[in-house]
Amino acid sequence: MAVAGCGPAGLAAALLLARDGHHVTIYERFDAPAPLGSGLMIQPTGLAVLRALGLDGALIARSARIDRLFGAADGRVVLDVGYATLRQAGLCGFGVHRATLFAVLHDAVTAAGISIETGRAIAGSELSGYGRRRLAFVDGTRSAAFDLIVDALGTRTPLAPPCGRALPYGALWASLRRTEGFATNALEQRYRRASAMAGVLPIGRPRGASADHAAFFWSIRADRLERWRDAGLEAWKEEVRALWPATAPLLDQIGDAGQLTFARYAHRTLRRPVDAALIHIGDAWHSASPQLGQGANMALLDAFALARGLRNAPDVLSGIAAAVRMRRRHVRLYQALTAVFTPVYQSDSRTLPFVRDRLVGPLSGSWPANRIQAAMVSGLIGKPLEPLGLTV
Ligand SMILES: Cc1cc2nc3c(=O)[nH]c(=O)nc-3n(C[C@H](O)[C@H](O)[C@H](O)COP(=O)(O)OP(=O)(O)OC[C@H]3O[C@@H](n4cnc5c(N)ncnc54)[C@H](O)[C@@H]3O)c2cc1C
Repeated sequence: MAVAGCGPAGLAAALLLARDGHHVTIYERFDAPAPLGSGLMIQPTGLAVLRALGLDGALIARSARIDRLFGAADGRVVLDVGYATLRQAGLCGFGVHRATLFAVLHDAVTAAGISIETGRAIAGSELSGYGRRRLAFVDGTRSAAFDLIVDALGTRTPLAPPCGRALPYGALWASLRRTEGFATNALEQRYRRASAMAGVLPIGRPRGASADHAAFFWSIRADRLERWRDAGLEAWKEEVRALWPATAPLLDQIGDAGQLTFARYAHRTLRRPVDAALIHIGDAWHSASPQLGQGANMALLDAFALARGLRNAPDVLSGIAAAVRMRRRHVRLYQALTAVFTPVYQSDSRTLPFVRDRLVGPLSGSWPANRIQAAMVSGLIGKPLEPLGLTV
């Protein structure tokens, strides 16, 4: 089997499939596979998959436990979600550097002896008879024919037809040394309407770092990026400090715009994530803005469902169809929830943040809104773990 892409979905799928006795080769465009970006949150759903892989301990050791998500606008609390409201002992999220998640999975893939072909930019795929499929590379070469190609190439996959839309907003991200003035166990955000947002997520101690780190992010419209660059770092820092003075020592660590990575988001869901000898998983199947912080977790769940589907099926086609059945409802639900919530936090609307700050925000701290929000953030709405035989 071939796994296309060396992100969380591809690495987890390769590992699970190899452990089930499949011969797996991973193809990745980068010469040295490495993750892009800064921090992300592993939710109880993603952690359940990592636990099944025996990798939860390694991840937790280098991450920050997150018990609460907190957001304020103009001094008003507009988001206050605690995992404790779900009343399940030990339930929490983990803030991690992308590189930490990558390293944990990549080490396990290497230890399992799975071969990774790097420097292989994929352009497409083609059927090659007997229900098998080949990868076509940008340099014009072709791979061997495989019983199954797992497309884990992320949101811009060339193995699926284009769909969905790029979202107007994205964010600038940086990994910085954690400083005083922020909770060590919370994702904190500050908003001005829905057009400005700063966030700080503790992400533990990435490999090679001598101090704890935090991911800092600043919401920005993609078409304003050039203007932001032209205005210079100091003008931007002033704007951030005016919104959230405590960020000053974090901003002091940014001396060059190159320390900030811009990530643009897209909202897309493939209607048909399977074809002959092909399945799309992770962001290649569905991607959204990271407002609910589910992407990497969904990618891990997809990988787990794929291995489980194939394990119990008489042939590849029914195996991948079973995998999609196990995941489709949860995917649809969270894609819809993210579509609803994204403009509340990232848009030019004045009405949505007004309602958020004056109506929804004050309710967010009390039952049952707090419980619903905690279940939503945990990724547990729709009971995604049940069909996979996993528990939190
Ligand atoms: C700024 C930001 C913040 C986020 N925060 C969170 C969060 O808090 N929690 C969360 O769960 N999710 C979060 N996400 C989403 C999460 O990062 C993604 O959902 C997750 O990385 C998807 O994993 P994947 O393996 O499907 O795809 P990717 O991580 O995109 O991996 C795809 C891999 O395929 C390779 N590749 C791509 N194209 C080609 C090609 N043509 N040929 C060969 N190789 C190729 C890439 O190099 C990469 O290695 C965030 C996303 C962004 C952008």
